[in-house]
Amino acid sequence: MIQIREQSKDKDVIKSTAIDNTKSFLEIKDLRKSYPLGTGNSHFVVDVKNFTLDPGSQLAIHGPSGAGKSTFLNLIAGIIKPDTGSIRIGNLEMTTLSEPERDLARAQDIGYVFQSFHLLQGCSALDNLLVAMAMNGKVDRKRARELLSLVGIKEKENSLPSELSIGQQQRVCLARALSNNPKLMLADEPTGNLDSANASRSIELLRSLCEQNNCTLLVVSHDEKIINRFEKSVDWKEISDVHNLND
Ligand code: ADP
Repeated sequence: MIQIREQSKDKDVIKSTAIDNTKSFLEIKDLRKSYPLGTGNSHFVVDVKNFTLDPGSQLAIHGPSGAGKSTFLNLIAGIIKPDTGSIRIGNLEMTTLSEPERDLARAQDIGYVFQSFHLLQGCSALDNLLVAMAMNGKVDRKRARELLSLVGIKEKENSLPSELSIGQQQRVCLARALSNNPKLMLADEPTGNLDSANASRSIELLRSLCEQNNCTLLVVSHDEKIINRFEKSVDWKEISDVHNLND
């Protein structure tokens, strides 16, 4: 049982929601990841017993920096492997896949928006999308242009990242994350580098693009202002039980 906070127009409603496992698109069970501490001991930064998301849903996870949220997203994306546990995305059990298989699954089905944009600095906005598409073996120049148009920077397709504002670079990231038509979008502090007006616009854009593309969205952030823009949000401490290995 996880406490999901639902925003209504008038007030915050706190309600306990037993998530329906029969319909879940993302299902995580007994997921643990530890890192060594300087002392010779280790500590769990992720210890998630049960976490599910329905297809097409949008959820924001709120928690302080250093709490383990990025590690959680990196585990879901298959960038790192857990110590134990399972992560099922659709019909795919990520934890049974080899690293190249996980890379392929990510290229095909998962979009990832990072706080530090990780754009290829020597490539134009358009080429950043085309390179991402090439990773998935489907380069579609027309679709890439459509995506840049969708995020409102069509006229900047030939600009290098260094020639774009921070907000425009973020838009390239959103377009790139959508370029493989992902079923799951992960966003890690997606507005961390933006001023508050750009942050609001960027979150609304991310939400509506995911809605239009029927893409399940999971956002993590320490920023209450971002969290409040989601109808459903949950505290990281409700999801993960963090403690030292010796506890
Ligand atoms: P958040 O995203 O909530 O800020 P992180 O997942 O980045 O938190 O980090 C959680 C904890 O795990 C931090 O204490 C961090 O120092 C530690 N950590 C993250 N990555 C590594 C790593 N590769 N090796 C050791 N410790 C790590």
